[in-house]
Amino acid sequence: MAKHLKANNAITASGMKPRPPVVVIMGHVDHGKTTLLDHIRKANVAAREAGGITQAVGAYEIIHNTRKITFIDTPGHEAFSKMRSRGAEVADLAVLVVAADEGVKPQTKEAIDILLAAKTPFIAAINKIDRTGGNIDKAKNDLATAGVFLEGYGGQVSFHGISAKTGEGVNELLDLIILAADLEGLTFDPAAPASGYILESSHDSRRGGEASVIVKNGTLRRGANIYTKTASGKVKILENFLGKTVNELEPSAPALIMGFEGLPQVGEEFSTEPIVRAEAKKSAAKPVLKKSDRVLHLILKASDAGSLEALSAVLKAVDRGDKELRVLEESVGDVTDGDLNNAIAMNSHIIGFKVKVQKGARNLAEAHGVKIVTSEIIYDLVKAVEEFFKTVGQPPAMGELEVLAVFNQKKMSEQLVGGRVTLGNFRTKASFEIVHAGQTTVAGHGKVLGLREKKNEINSADLGHEIGVLLNSSVAMQVGDKLIIRK
Ligand code: GDP
Repeated sequence: MAKHLKANNAITASGMKPRPPVVVIMGHVDHGKTTLLDHIRKANVAAREAGGITQAVGAYEIIHNTRKITFIDTPGHEAFSKMRSRGAEVADLAVLVVAADEGVKPQTKEAIDILLAAKTPFIAAINKIDRTGGNIDKAKNDLATAGVFLEGYGGQVSFHGISAKTGEGVNELLDLIILAADLEGLTFDPAAPASGYILESSHDSRRGGEASVIVKNGTLRRGANIYTKTASGKVKILENFLGKTVNELEPSAPALIMGFEGLPQVGEEFSTEPIVRAEAKKSAAKPVLKKSDRVLHLILKASDAGSLEALSAVLKAVDRGDKELRVLEESVGDVTDGDLNNAIAMNSHIIGFKVKVQKGARNLAEAHGVKIVTSEIIYDLVKAVEEFFKTVGQPPAMGELEVLAVFNQKKMSEQLVGGRVTLGNFRTKASFEIVHAGQTTVAGHGKVLGLREKKNEINSADLGHEIGVLLNSSVAMQVGDKLIIRK
């Protein structure tokens, strides 16, 4: 622990200081998130000294073995679902609560998807071990099936069996949180403008707009100007999470700020320097339709506002290298003709979360080479977007053939298939990429050896023609494959 203490107080050469982790608790309903948060809070010395926390500020801070940890407190399932996507962004670490008796359930899976997509490190807390006599095998097996590989079981995700009810194992869980935080090497710049996230906001007729926040960088001081995308004001009163007035707070402290004019929105970032209203600008000016080869244009669709928010938050975290993501539109509902017309005009693809694609829209997409990817699982969509990023900047397709039948595959170097030209023009001697049906990833490459149309050898075939193709590829052709010629 002495080592931890030292690390915690050190200032690095670059002027950065270590900061405590911000932790969010995720998991299926009734698996014990609230009980765990309550237990941790009650066992917290600082809170006891202060006579208990009366104010709900959306987060609290504890000291565990001299180390601070900030927990995002999300009481009730509605508040939690609102924070679910944002929680993963605000938080440095997550605790995934899985009840030992029930194992992985739908919301556990959803939480896993969000955490993996946002690349948020997490620890599994296998709860209610008082019910299973300490047995956590079901939860461990379920987690492996869901793609979470625990330490000692072929993976890196640390875990502990706990009972949020009796408190058994909770100290060890807190140890694991500190350990994970140390691995992350969390720091902040004390000299930077203060910034962080809005957890909750409300309006008091006497005191005006107030917001509970978590400070993530800089030093937040009373008297500072404060801005979010939708509201601004001055920090007239600054309180810590115990409701005590303070003059300044450092990361990763929760804080209550009074002095907003207007109401900042939950999940927004705040800063003591004006935040450029990037989104406002975007809708004021027509979207810039640079055919830049560094920009991926997307239209987002989802079944409801919460899902749309989750999708949008998760896509922000997608690894994009040096490329840029521009979301041209996002709306609730199925993918329609209107969406397709926009996608065609704006040179965009469409990502749909828990939505259907109307038939007319599907036809338009096929005719114009717009890709629509829909799924019920956020993580699949993240993967699709990652693939899109890989193709950004590639030369456009000159020709595309859809494989309708596979005639001969005895030799991979002389496969014979039948297909229809679905884009541009398909030529002999051309090299092509192979994309399997319903996928966006390139499965492999090949070369056209010869083309035939009704017994005649031909050199090229235009859109709509059905032809026979002799080709060489290490990938075995399947019905539904798209063969794409780019040059
Ligand atoms: P949440 O929906 O994930 O916040 O779950 P809650 O914290 O509200 O817990 C749901 C139910 O499980 C409540 O009745 C809790 O008392 C109970 N519970 C939570 N943790 C434990 C535990 O460790 N052991 C037992 N036996 N019950 C628990």
